[in-house]
Amino acid sequence: MNETKVETFSSISRRDFLTATSSAALLLAAGSFASKAHAAAAPHVLPPLPYAENALEPVISANTLSFHYGKHHKGYVDNLNKLVAGTELAELSLEKIIMLTAGKADKAAIFNNAAQIWNHTFYWNSLRTSGGGEPPAALKQKIEAAFGSVDALKKALATAAASQFGSGWAWLVLENNTLKVVKTGNAEVPFTSGAKPLLTIDVWEHAYYLDYQNRRADYVTAVLDKLINWSFAAENLGK
Ligand code: MN
Repeated sequence: MNETKVETFSSISRRDFLTATSSAALLLAAGSFASKAHAAAAPHVLPPLPYAENALEPVISANTLSFHYGKHHKGYVDNLNKLVAGTELAELSLEKIIMLTAGKADKAAIFNNAAQIWNHTFYWNSLRTSGGGEPPAALKQKIEAAFGSVDALKKALATAAASQFGSGWAWLVLENNTLKVVKTGNAEVPFTSGAKPLLTIDVWEHAYYLDYQNRRADYVTAVLDKLINWSFAAENLGK
């Protein structure tokens, strides 16, 4: 099931069909290609949530998910489309935009919105109904090699999440063939510095405040115990 989700996201972000942008191409694109021609005007789309808005209850309420996905995630998509329209970045994939704008002060707004689209799609897939439990064998072996045990990894993720000052993300990544836990601030993503993301937990206040108020640690512990999608991490490990 998750393979389909990841593939959908990846194909949306590549948008190879958007290379045909001349007016002649757009005219030829009438009929069955009309939706693609329309997509060229607003190339980035909000990927569908991989589950219903109430699927993560009671750990994350439908109310939180409704705002988080429908307002925050959608807002980043709408902002990015406005920011890149008519620029040299307009036809590029999300990943390319992130790589090209990372660390550039004059492109901070574009980077922040693009990276937040990517981060949120990755976060939704990092969670699942009835998650938690035991990771698949190959991943578990790598976790034990790097952290000693699954519980020790969960503690490391909880510590990273709790110690991220202000908004940001806690991540399980693969770097130099070793699993590591890292945290990033605001919209920052690990892959701009060469680490491959496997899982993430959103620790922006909008991710938990309606359900947990200031108790970030309670939200993170509940996510790790009941929602974390080890299968998604295992799939990313295998790529
Ligand atoms: Mn968020």
